[in-house]
Amino acid sequence: MNYTILDCYTDEPAGLGVPPYIGTYPRYIYGRLKKKGNDVKYITIDDVRLYKKYDNQIPTITEKQRSKIDVYNLTKNSKTIKEVLDKTEVLVVILGVHTPGKYLSAIPGTLREIVPLIEDSRCEKILTGPAASHHGTQLEGGKLVENQDTDIFDTVDVDYFEISSFEDIDKVAPAGAQIVKQILDIRVAEIETASGCFRDKGCSFCVEWTKPQLYREQKNIHEEVKALVNTGVSRFRLGKQTCFYSYKDGKTEEIKKLLEPISNSKPDVLHIDNANPARVNEEITKLIVKYCTPGNIAAFGVESFDDTVVKKNNLNSTPETTMKAIKIINKIGGKRSSNGFHHFLPGVNILFGLNGETKQTHVENMKYLHQILDEKLLLRRINIRQVVPYKGTTLYENVGNKFLRKNKTLYWKWRNQIRQEIDYEMLKRLVPENTIIKNVFSEVYDGKNTFLRQFGTYPLIVGIKQRLELKKFYNIKVTGHMLRSVVGKVV
Ligand code: SF4
Repeated sequence: MNYTILDCYTDEPAGLGVPPYIGTYPRYIYGRLKKKGNDVKYITIDDVRLYKKYDNQIPTITEKQRSKIDVYNLTKNSKTIKEVLDKTEVLVVILGVHTPGKYLSAIPGTLREIVPLIEDSRCEKILTGPAASHHGTQLEGGKLVENQDTDIFDTVDVDYFEISSFEDIDKVAPAGAQIVKQILDIRVAEIETASGCFRDKGCSFCVEWTKPQLYREQKNIHEEVKALVNTGVSRFRLGKQTCFYSYKDGKTEEIKKLLEPISNSKPDVLHIDNANPARVNEEITKLIVKYCTPGNIAAFGVESFDDTVVKKNNLNSTPETTMKAIKIINKIGGKRSSNGFHHFLPGVNILFGLNGETKQTHVENMKYLHQILDEKLLLRRINIRQVVPYKGTTLYENVGNKFLRKNKTLYWKWRNQIRQEIDYEMLKRLVPENTIIKNVFSEVYDGKNTFLRQFGTYPLIVGIKQRLELKKFYNIKVTGHMLRSVVGKVV
């Protein structure tokens, strides 16, 4: 059979599949289909947009315009996309965003966008990925899930290919690594290490804890990484889990056994994602610093420093626990490395729109964020978003978007105050003027400016006031600071 995987990209609390990341869904499905002897092509929503909206001609931009990031992530199949689609017998659409964000060089496809683009095609159509789950999908924070008719699909099933257990995954993941041969650009491979959450009853907004808490065996993870290395991938994020520190019940020996062999393959990037502050300890932090590459971040799902909100939403960490974890990571990972960034720092996620949110919530958030600054602790990022009340969550059942509606008009002010008073000051401490940041990759233009990032977990955006050749590595000297990015010049 001729299958085509159409990647509209995915972003979930545990698992990123938006370029420059290649997610697990396309890799696993590719592996499954190849192992059954099918012909499998991989295309992206960018390929389809270029074909349908631009007659397959890459649009030229003037020096005043921004790069066209809707058609930035083309595959090797882009040039022959008509032929690929004509031959397709089964089209597998992977789609779904559960943690909406802004992406420097990609725009995830939505159901609303993709349905009209593919409805005329006569092949069998399968919708899978997070959008096919009963939770739905939404690209913008603070809104209810997309209410799009999915009747054009023959099947809507998040687990259509039956690769949900680690036993299934391990059978197909190494073969799935071959998918990157159809991709033109550098990709960071998101690697899955665990599913579910250790909490019996999870945070009000979250869907992850409803999945069983299981760990993937080290040898199977290593086999997949080896297969990816053999196809030329050298950048990895151990990001598909809800808390890295909880791997195999947080046993230090097990985490060493996971990290050491990957580190021995000398990857350009080995980072982690997602950590529950309540599980952070010195031993595991030391292992992460020893075996991972610099610029690494533990993103803490703090969500709120307001005790009332913590209780009402059954959040996983109290403000005191979070502060303790921030101190541990700063102590062990807070040394600057040769690539310009610290080895390993914490990040904090703040969520607006939770149950019980009042003006006092913002006061509490500011109090603790100022305390972090006052105690000279570093945070590598503060991620602020508005919650999406997904079906099946207790937030959806109990309050829906009540607090989002109630406090909506305050969010800009709250966010701006955090950006002005905390982020800006923090950024100046993280990368002071004249810091040299190495191996920064030029991604997009905005007028006469170029925006660059290192590859890795939540990399900092660097703006250069000139149009550099894109998709090249540069070393940059920091010359100034914006609220969430830095300005630099090439050295
Ligand atoms: S700690 Fe909360 S947010 Fe994190 S996975 Fe568990 S339930 Fe979800």
